[in-house]
Amino acid sequence: MKSSYKKVRLILGDQLNRDHTWYQKQDSDCLYILMEMHQETNYVKHHIQKIVAFFLSMEAMGQWLSESNHDVLYLKLDDPKNTGNLVENLEGIVKDFGVSQIEYQLPDEYRLDEQMKVLESELGIPCLALDTEHFLTERDELAKFFEGKKTLLMESFYRYMRKKYNLLMDPMDDSQPLTGKWNYDHENRGSIKAKHEIDAPFLYKKDVESVISRIDNQGVSYIGNIETDDFIWPTTPDESRELLSFFLTRCLPVFGKYQDAMVERSWSVYHARISFSMNSKMLHPLEVVKSAIAHWEDNQDEITIAQVEGFVRQIIGWREYMRGVYWKEMPDYAELNYFDHQRKLPDYYWSGETKMNCMQKSIQQSLDYAYAHHIQRLMVTGNFALLTGINPDELDQWYLGIYIDAIEWVEITNTRGMSQFADGGIVGTKPYISSANYINKMSDYCKGCYYDKSVKVGEKACPFNSLYWNFYEVNRPLLGKNPRVGMMYRVWDRNSEDQKKKILEQAEYYLDNIEEL
Ligand SMILES: Cc1cc2nc3c(=O)[nH]c(=O)nc-3n(C[C@H](O)[C@H](O)[C@H](O)COP(=O)(O)OP(=O)(O)OC[C@H]3O[C@@H](n4cnc5c(N)ncnc54)[C@H](O)[C@@H]3O)c2cc1C
Ligand code: SF4
Repeated sequence: MKSSYKKVRLILGDQLNRDHTWYQKQDSDCLYILMEMHQETNYVKHHIQKIVAFFLSMEAMGQWLSESNHDVLYLKLDDPKNTGNLVENLEGIVKDFGVSQIEYQLPDEYRLDEQMKVLESELGIPCLALDTEHFLTERDELAKFFEGKKTLLMESFYRYMRKKYNLLMDPMDDSQPLTGKWNYDHENRGSIKAKHEIDAPFLYKKDVESVISRIDNQGVSYIGNIETDDFIWPTTPDESRELLSFFLTRCLPVFGKYQDAMVERSWSVYHARISFSMNSKMLHPLEVVKSAIAHWEDNQDEITIAQVEGFVRQIIGWREYMRGVYWKEMPDYAELNYFDHQRKLPDYYWSGETKMNCMQKSIQQSLDYAYAHHIQRLMVTGNFALLTGINPDELDQWYLGIYIDAIEWVEITNTRGMSQFADGGIVGTKPYISSANYINKMSDYCKGCYYDKSVKVGEKACPFNSLYWNFYEVNRPLLGKNPRVGMMYRVWDRNSEDQKKKILEQAEYYLDNIEEL
């Protein structure tokens, strides 16, 4: 490292894209900066595995830059020069190295974006923003796509993306989907039988004692469990590719089919677990979907199009869609609370100590691995929170902290939008809720549960059952006219007044004693 540099290039913790144009040329007047910062470890209480994953991946990025002959300053959390604050650290660096220009990549969080906007005036030198070269759409592309439309229908955005990138399109007519069908979602609802054997997930085993000590010594408070010599997540692009390759060969053949299934004996089932690698930008979404399509093309005797289409849709559809909604709707989105839910998040979200087996298993594995798959997030923990009227602010803090892949642009849109309908229908057309019926159909949780899945009223009645109908009844003024839920009101209204009263009383009892469930 030299004693002075004209230019500094800032790399945030989720900007670990090694294929960025920045790194293609050597520039002896440029210093790259990576910083572990208290402002990032403390804005929410994170899972310890999430903090470790980010720090290890950032360190690996710093090392790679250095080995590629770029000059790098890596500020560890305990470095005496590290103030823990982005702007203050940059002030120090500008002064120490006589820097006259800063370049940064556009942050993906509103919070950081606001901080960057004032960087130039705070530092008094030109600060230039560049694209991260990661996403498949511009920040405002979704807003432009839906301009003048009443609803932001994901399916039409997804079709636009398929055409834009020519993915799974008919080679004879690139405006039409391959095989004439856009979406195979309805084929992807399989449950997993008791005898079905699932491969153990591919895991790393890393010693992370020193990084945990650094975090502990700096007094960072966190949630979740970690084994010091058994850290399982990929923290380099090559490791991420290795995990992707495991997914393609072992999971993709049945990914779509079992996408919604939940079983006690497998915490990740056939899911890819690449969200951290993608959200930290170690893996590019186009690389992921193209390798999935290529793998499917080479193995069509073993893998149906429904499997690969389901996977491609999550990435070029849902992932890009959520990001577009985030930039279209923020900052107001973070305040939305359509049902005016105010209840405190029950303590078992933090401990896993509940008699509800589906909740216990989904929360415990989140604490153990910083991971739960989509249906566990949506139809177990999210479903329960919506049925019980948990304040979305508290719920956002939980989802933002506990998952290894949680970054606000994708967490808040999934939580407030898809899971809690707190946005009143921007993301979804109806609330995602269910009684025990759905959970029992898609999982083996109910078999080992204290509660009885088929009972609505009484001591061991499954809480999801009465709370489900209570939710519809309480929210009739807001949902009664929604054509997508009209049928449920007709089913509910067929109950006798006495039966309705008993169910609503049971729900009220559970809500009054929510911590005891
Ligand atoms: C309440 C709630 C909170 C969520 N919070 C986050 C979050 O903080 N960060 C996050 O990345 N995802 C979040 N999701 C979406 C989804 O659950 C995760 O992306 C997925 O579970 C990650 O695991 P995987 O890589 O094994 O995914 P797979 O099921 O294997 O899917 C492959 C990839 O598709 C993308 N994807 C799938 N579903 C979605 C979706 N709904 N939105 C955006 N991308 C999607 C992800 O990049 C994922 O890695 C949330 C979902 C819900 C219901
Ligand atoms: S019975 Fe109810 S609480 Fe128990 S696992 Fe099934 S859905 Fe969950």
